[in-house]
Amino acid sequence: MSPEKTLEAPDPAATPTHEHTRTGMSKDALNRAFIDNLFYVQGRFREVASPNDLYMAAAYTVRDRLLGRWIKCAETYRDSKARTVCYFSAEFLLGPHLLNNLVNLGITDVAGEAGAELGLDLHELIETEEEPGLGNGGLGRLAACYMDSLSTVQIPAIGYGIRYEFGIFDQVIEDGWQVEKSDTWLKNGNPWEILRHGLRFPVKFGGRTEQYHDEHGTLRVRWLADMEVIGVGYDTPILGYGVGNVSLLRLWKSEACESFDFQSFNVGDYYGAVQAKIEAETISKVLYPNDEPSAGKELRLKQQYFFVSCSLQDMIRLQLHTVGPLDGLADKFVAQLNDTHPAIAIAELMRLLMDEHGMGWDQAWGITHKTFCYTNHTLLPEALETWSVRLFEKLLPRHLEIIYEINRRFLDEVRVRFLNDEGRVARMSLIGEEGGRRVRMANLAVVGSSAVNGVAQLHSELVKTTILKDFYDLWPERFHNVTNGVTPRRFIAVCNPRLAALITETCGDDRWLTDLNCLRELENYADDADFQGRWRAVKTAAKRNLARWLTKHAWVTVDPESLFDVQAKRLHEYKRQHLNLLHIVSLYQRLKQDPNLPMVPRTFIFGAKAAPGYHLAKLIIKLINAVADVINHDPQVNDSLRVAFMPNFNVQNGQRLYPAADISEQISLAGKEASGTGNMKFSMNGALTIGTLDGANVEIREEVGEDNFFLFGMTAEEVSRRQAEGYRPWDICRDDHELKSVLDLITSGLFSHGDTTLFRPLIDNLIHQDPFMVLADYRAYLDCQERVSRAWADRPRWERMSILNVARMGKFSSDRAIREYAEKIWKVKPLPVSL
Ligand SMILES: *Cc1c(COP(=O)(O)O)cnc(C)c1O
Repeated sequence: MSPEKTLEAPDPAATPTHEHTRTGMSKDALNRAFIDNLFYVQGRFREVASPNDLYMAAAYTVRDRLLGRWIKCAETYRDSKARTVCYFSAEFLLGPHLLNNLVNLGITDVAGEAGAELGLDLHELIETEEEPGLGNGGLGRLAACYMDSLSTVQIPAIGYGIRYEFGIFDQVIEDGWQVEKSDTWLKNGNPWEILRHGLRFPVKFGGRTEQYHDEHGTLRVRWLADMEVIGVGYDTPILGYGVGNVSLLRLWKSEACESFDFQSFNVGDYYGAVQAKIEAETISKVLYPNDEPSAGKELRLKQQYFFVSCSLQDMIRLQLHTVGPLDGLADKFVAQLNDTHPAIAIAELMRLLMDEHGMGWDQAWGITHKTFCYTNHTLLPEALETWSVRLFEKLLPRHLEIIYEINRRFLDEVRVRFLNDEGRVARMSLIGEEGGRRVRMANLAVVGSSAVNGVAQLHSELVKTTILKDFYDLWPERFHNVTNGVTPRRFIAVCNPRLAALITETCGDDRWLTDLNCLRELENYADDADFQGRWRAVKTAAKRNLARWLTKHAWVTVDPESLFDVQAKRLHEYKRQHLNLLHIVSLYQRLKQDPNLPMVPRTFIFGAKAAPGYHLAKLIIKLINAVADVINHDPQVNDSLRVAFMPNFNVQNGQRLYPAADISEQISLAGKEASGTGNMKFSMNGALTIGTLDGANVEIREEVGEDNFFLFGMTAEEVSRRQAEGYRPWDICRDDHELKSVLDLITSGLFSHGDTTLFRPLIDNLIHQDPFMVLADYRAYLDCQERVSRAWADRPRWERMSILNVARMGKFSSDRAIREYAEKIWKVKPLPVSL
């Protein structure tokens, strides 16, 4: 290649049109920007560019346009005195940016044409992106949906979190087992973030505290820490749909202090100093998988404190720079705690206001309490976060003192309110005494917040009557419900363009994308044969796409004409993937006993990661793959049954599943799933739900109508009653012949090359403990699945149900959820930024 050639490619001066290269939306401007970015940012020209170079150039081209809007938005936000929402979350499970941003900018089509002109396939570029997997599952994905909606609903917002160098592990399947590979999402560069060199905050750990008198003679406390790291900010712009509002996602990376090798305590100890540097950089190194059984996770507490401290220092900086004195902090900002992971923020804000900014306790507490709101995400008592007092003392001695003082004042209030009730005082204390003294983060979160919410109606009720009952008795006005939602931009427009086009054509415009209740218009077409035909064609096309992907990545052939029955979510016993499996093995056994049995052909598809240390969950993955192996290779049942395990379920792979599902499995034990959001994504794409009365399933069924939802199983009340009576799974097994023989089949060695011990732990667990009552719901589940099969055989009825499901999903847009938070909890108003 001649040097002239490389110099020739980008020549901004020679452009004849008036549209700006960095902000223009025309095909011409996009192409100029692409060539510019490829050359001046990537340092490549077309002929030698790798697929990643091309992707990066496309991403920078899109980012240029985001930044154009963001600067205007930042100015508007700065000039107004509007309250800003700070969303504190240890996880943001964003998913790929490129197509989402194209959709929100409204330039998907013109970008495709621009690419074609350069001989590029936009779809290929989109598939090149490695998604930032900075979350485990539903909780992290919720934070990402809320960032999208905060921008779209035009509420000033900053998302605060951690820039993990390694996100959630990549899952590969080897010999049917899950194997974890580290997620190296940054290895090819991240074009969406901007490093803010100037945004650096010190964060301390360890040491001790001492009292002293300040210049006014006031008694104060000083924290003499023995370790300090620096948090550096990285900003990612999050654009709303069809608006000029752009929110900021500000993630913190930990670094060692600049002069690490000259610290006095390290004089002469160069390698010791290097060690300190490594330790500092470890803090933001890796995302913790949840459901890990062992609890000695010092690094996890460090992570929580690290990101929360940086974020609060940043808010205080913003307040002092732009608005005014610190006593107005809670008028300018409200901070939402996404679960208890960031709850240490309550003690940290107290410390910053008192120790660093000289405030007294009462004023600091007034501000702190007004600033924070807390979202609870779990009813499983074992999932409530606690930290040993010993660890706190070692890492955060000053915060422990503050927590003790909050607790002392709080418990006095409880004693005055409920005379002579020390049992209650012990339950409500921020310090638990059972099994070693531990700090109860949920109690801290409730006491330090002005509002507490659950994430679905049923869940919020159960929060008030079970795990936080004592707090509800004391402060009923503090408790709210905000049912979760998901963004229809990513989970319809991005992942299912054919469906989006059909909806837009039918509704007359794309207003439904920002006002999801507009989908109601589809009800008028539910029985229209012509429309049903087009509806079905959209679904079949998506199923073909998925089938092609599964052939390539899961080595299974599946028939797009069969019923696609999908369960995609984290693997956990309470979600009951094994109930689904028992159904599959039951069908297999029936077909083997009577090969001529008439059966609706079904393809069962699973996607699920298990926490690396959760052995039973990993055994269930092995069993799914073992059952798939036998069924898929048995020609006697092949025409009716197939089983596929999609490896590495993440946002991107989920986007392949939701459009292609006919049935969505939402079969958790009632009372265990706080809300679920997967249930909403499936339903929005026309899948019918088979589910229990759990989490948001209850409200989905209310909205779509009971005729359009396959309900089975015990209610949460029945579950409590059965458990109180003494649940004996063995009795169920003894009385249900089919169930017994299915369990026997699994331990017979059929699915384990003759090994009768491999799946024994799982089956023994079901027969003897069955903590999530799989056996108790087995028969009802199988009966319900037969109703599903009968409905499938009546296609017009099925299409009608599917159309009505989509038509009635308006409530489950995350825009609705954000508007509820804004009104009920944050007391903030939209601040429109025009285009
Ligand atoms: C939506 C989503 C989840 C949550 O699924 P549930 O069925 O609600 O548990 C988990 N992981 C990913 C990648 C998701 O997109």
